[in-house]
Amino acid sequence: MSTEIKVTIVSGDGIGPEVTREAVQILECIGQLNNYKFHFVEMPIGGVAIRQHGSPLPRATLDAALDSDAVFLGAVGGNEFNSLSPDKRPEAGLLQLRQALGGFANLRPSIAYAPLSHNSPLRPEVTDGANILFVRELLGGLYFGEPRSWDRESGVGFNTMRYTREEVVRVARVAFELAQKRRHKVTSVDKANVLEVSQLWRATVTEVAAEYPDVALDHLYVDACAMHLMNTPRNFDVIVTENLFGDILSDEAAVITGSLGMLPSATIGGAVNLYEPVHGSAPDIAGTGKANPLGAILTAAMLLRHTAELEQDAQAVETAVQRVLAEGYRTADLARTNQPNQQIVTTREMGKLVFDTLNEIINRNQAMHAV
Ligand code: NAD
Repeated sequence: MSTEIKVTIVSGDGIGPEVTREAVQILECIGQLNNYKFHFVEMPIGGVAIRQHGSPLPRATLDAALDSDAVFLGAVGGNEFNSLSPDKRPEAGLLQLRQALGGFANLRPSIAYAPLSHNSPLRPEVTDGANILFVRELLGGLYFGEPRSWDRESGVGFNTMRYTREEVVRVARVAFELAQKRRHKVTSVDKANVLEVSQLWRATVTEVAAEYPDVALDHLYVDACAMHLMNTPRNFDVIVTENLFGDILSDEAAVITGSLGMLPSATIGGAVNLYEPVHGSAPDIAGTGKANPLGAILTAAMLLRHTAELEQDAQAVETAVQRVLAEGYRTADLARTNQPNQQIVTTREMGKLVFDTLNEIINRNQAMHAV
């Protein structure tokens, strides 16, 4: 990877631009400290693009996205567009973008941050130390399989959960390679006791595992996995699963972290990687300074890890976030009435706190290497 990285920024609607600004500032900071050039191109998507260009994904935005090394998305959507047909709404722009970029592996970390242990509905002794990475297959399975139909007259509806061996191989390899950089464990989730497609999934993942003798593989049925996630989340490292199961389980596991505003994601494996916080445009708090930018900032860390290959800097960003939380700083969504020493800050203030802490961490690291 060259030291020039072109990132298309599509910050979108509502709180999208507010949180994206803080994330971009973090990438700029890393760039300057490393003599690494991030080249940002800002383009419209979603509601703002409908207003300006009459389309939720203008051609120029798509072209810029396809011509970059990474795309960073804030969020799309707004109440004023709710009366439009689904294919004309802001969200349609995001779906089209995801499809055009072609990523097949959706990565979603679920981490229990110690300073936020009381934000999760689960007890701290259950969540403490949990750090799970979901690898969700994104282009196949029940969401895309044919045939599909809802026949109103006969009253029959159906979808098809379909996978090819190749689709499973490629997403399994992503999971094993990520596990090699983590705690060397992959849990593959399926429903092989009932579904033939899951038997294909299980057999294929087992076959791929032979290429990674340093990674332990286990298999869980999806219903058992849903239960273990709540009882023993610490036991998981990387979870690889098909599209629908991954959608549901990654949302379930998000309760470990405790706030939607904290969750990052990346979609990799296609023409261009797409990075986006999990939350939406939150029209209820847009413009109030209440948006939590940490999900977007942690998404920037994923970009550093998976596109820029700056692992140390990705970790420095994550450490900066942890440190700011440990010092008691909270955006409104993280505030709890029974927590002493917490200090409520705005979106901008939280971004600046992480920025300053990151500068300190990196300067100290560089000084240590210089000695
Ligand atoms: P949402 O994620 O926007 O908000 C859900 C709740 O979480 C709201 O109360 C909101 O205030 C809060 N919240 C979300 N992000 C936050 C943050 N960073 N900091 C603090 N609080 C935060 O979901 P929604 O309300 O169901 O949808 C609102 C709009 O966003 C809709 O138009 C929806 O279609 C769209 N949406 C977009 C995406 C995306 O762009 N990826 C994802 C989900 C929803």
